[in-house]
Amino acid sequence: MKVNFGGIIPLSTVDWPGRAAMVVFLRGCPLHCPHCHNSQLQTGERQVALHDISSRIVSEVKGFRGPSRAMVRADAAISALPGRPPLIAPVRSSPTRQIELDEASQRASDKPFVDALVLSGGEPLLQPEASSRLFRLARSLHLSTGLETSGCFPDRLGAILATGLVDRVFLDIKADLQEPDYEMAVGRENISVLVRQSLEVGLKSEVTLEVRSTVFPEMPSSSQLERIAGALFRLKSVYPNNRLERMTLQQGQPRNGEAPFDPVSVDMMQKMAEGCRAASHGQLEVRVHATPKITWEN
Ligand code: SF4
Repeated sequence: MKVNFGGIIPLSTVDWPGRAAMVVFLRGCPLHCPHCHNSQLQTGERQVALHDISSRIVSEVKGFRGPSRAMVRADAAISALPGRPPLIAPVRSSPTRQIELDEASQRASDKPFVDALVLSGGEPLLQPEASSRLFRLARSLHLSTGLETSGCFPDRLGAILATGLVDRVFLDIKADLQEPDYEMAVGRENISVLVRQSLEVGLKSEVTLEVRSTVFPEMPSSSQLERIAGALFRLKSVYPNNRLERMTLQQGQPRNGEAPFDPVSVDMMQKMAEGCRAASHGQLEVRVHATPKITWEN
């Protein structure tokens, strides 16, 4: 199986706060957000064999020193891939002192530093089969699993959540869930209804859900963010078993090649967060995630 592949960040502490996550980016996205944070992944083709990506994930997670028990488990998990070569080459062993040391070292590497795998993009659900298989691989490596999605494929989201392979969904809500606001944020018509459906799919399921809104100077405005928070508050009572953990306001930064702009200040974002908390009658945890501005003293 081939995957339209974007790349891998071996270790991120940003994508899943509190976790040391490997982030795998899948290429391609049906939306055209004007401030796309990964515009180089919006389009294009780079077809890579799933087996090669899987091998790289295992090597990055475990530190390749030969096949550990975890790698054997991972190999078994992806062995269903048609026509793939074995992930782990057969190893000849001999009862020497050196091999005992290698085994001891390998056992130490069985405690990986990375403890989660996040699929991002692009839009991972553009490639639902590849997403499922990568999550299955992550499970075999005992990693927690997170999915970053724009919410434009509610049916596919429901299907992958039904497999039980996803621990956490990071759902982007880029503007008030109505047109034409949403069209301005994502560059395509009639996406707000799909995002709302995805939100309800996430709330209905038992997956832990984090809603993220990236704040740029022109949008979403404070009142738009408060309407998103109000909608979350109302839907939480419709789906009382939901596991909506928080709403995160992310500070939008100019991307490479984009005309520079001053990001919304942290003070302003804190005020926006307070407005969101009030709009949810204090029922919603709202977090601000901003890049600190460092002033160096000479
Ligand atoms: S949804 Fe994400 S990847 Fe797709 S265009 Fe928007 S910012 Fe870019």
